[in-house]
Amino acid sequence: MSTQPDPARGAAVKAADRAHVFHSWSAQGLIDPLAVAGAEGSYFWDYDGNRYLDFSSQLVNTNIGHQHPKVVAAIQEQAARLCTIAPGFAVDVRSEAARLVAERTPGDLDKIFFTNGGAEAVENAVRMARLHTGRPKVLSAYRSYHGATAAAINLTGDPRRWASDTGSAGVIHFWAPFLYRSPFHAESEEQECERALRHLEDTIAFEGPATIAAILLETVPGTAGIMVPPPGYLPGVRALCDRYGIVLVLDEVMAGFGRTGRWFAADHFGVTPDLLTFAKGVNSGYVPLGGVAISAEIAATFETRPYPGGLTYSGHPLACASAVATIDAMAEEGIVENAARIGEDVLGPGLRELAERHPSVGEVRGLGAFWAVELVRDRATREPLVPYAATGEANAPMAAFTAACKAAGLWPFVNMNRTHAVPPCTVTASEAKEGLAALDEALTVADRYT
Ligand code: PMP
Repeated sequence: MSTQPDPARGAAVKAADRAHVFHSWSAQGLIDPLAVAGAEGSYFWDYDGNRYLDFSSQLVNTNIGHQHPKVVAAIQEQAARLCTIAPGFAVDVRSEAARLVAERTPGDLDKIFFTNGGAEAVENAVRMARLHTGRPKVLSAYRSYHGATAAAINLTGDPRRWASDTGSAGVIHFWAPFLYRSPFHAESEEQECERALRHLEDTIAFEGPATIAAILLETVPGTAGIMVPPPGYLPGVRALCDRYGIVLVLDEVMAGFGRTGRWFAADHFGVTPDLLTFAKGVNSGYVPLGGVAISAEIAATFETRPYPGGLTYSGHPLACASAVATIDAMAEEGIVENAARIGEDVLGPGLRELAERHPSVGEVRGLGAFWAVELVRDRATREPLVPYAATGEANAPMAAFTAACKAAGLWPFVNMNRTHAVPPCTVTASEAKEGLAALDEALTVADRYT
């Protein structure tokens, strides 16, 4: 820890925050944000001298950990050379970032449209699919999150869309596979996969295949619960898209860039989408950056016809310089392989062991540095520890669990009745074990509600 405790400064930072910062997803008067003084590797700390193991990766974002020296240096060097330039110019770091992303994305996704984050990537992917096909509708899954801008929040399936959902024309939701809470009452992965594909094909048939531009799916859904799909599901969706001329958009904003132990989650399933959205891990969020990787066929649509979309900061030099340094560091330091190893050797076995001892754990699932722990009141009925989309008193058990994690020195990623174990992909085995020990302590609090 390189910052001396300074509680007075912490109090001043917090007071200024409360006076002027309007926070995301929050009742402004009911929150008490931690004042953060600094961060390094898998940890960050406050002004009071409390250090937290970051099992959230800051919204599942800092895949290379905090303050990676090579990335910090690349941003500093770029800032000294060229801070900003409009998207219409050719710039070395932008071309290089695009090349590095294209090289790693599957198949022929070789053209990169840069955005400032995930939602804008989804907005542009949907626009590209609609223009390419000349069709209006997009199908997306109920258990999904795709961002908080206008189209992205409508395409989102989870309750975060409820408050802003306009029920906008052209967005159709369907059920993707999730055996633990099977929408199809299936009893095996194979059955779940087969029924989910049949349901999707029925949805296509009744919506009218010639009206559907795209199917949008998170390759492995993230905030909705890290449901790794059965092996046959995404190849089956790919086949349906090919049969009906529908564009397959895989959203890898959260699952991409090493999080699952491969460069992209699609690599686990041998599937190449037509469009792939990314953000977060591309540069671990050191400077806002996202984008769409575009297939040769869709890119060809816009060879002579203008693409009607753009952003002032598209391919921002500081963001691109940080992406180049991040991707290079990930390759040089074996960070993707580390995520795979930690998942197989430490997080997977360790979380399953916790599930055996704690009655509040209903299911553990995931891969790489991407795990969900589903908390229940009753393992037999699978009743969630808190009701769906609970707030206030109804959410008290999860609030108590969250507080217990923090008291044990672990910063968790908590959503509804789940905690996600999503440390940086650079996490060491001993740090991961430290996190498991803290979760063990906090789960004793969750157990009291079973
Ligand atoms: N898609 C997915 C799969 C995400 O997880 C997120 C963010 N959590 C988004 C899109 C939206 O990204 P952003 O917040 O950068 O707009």
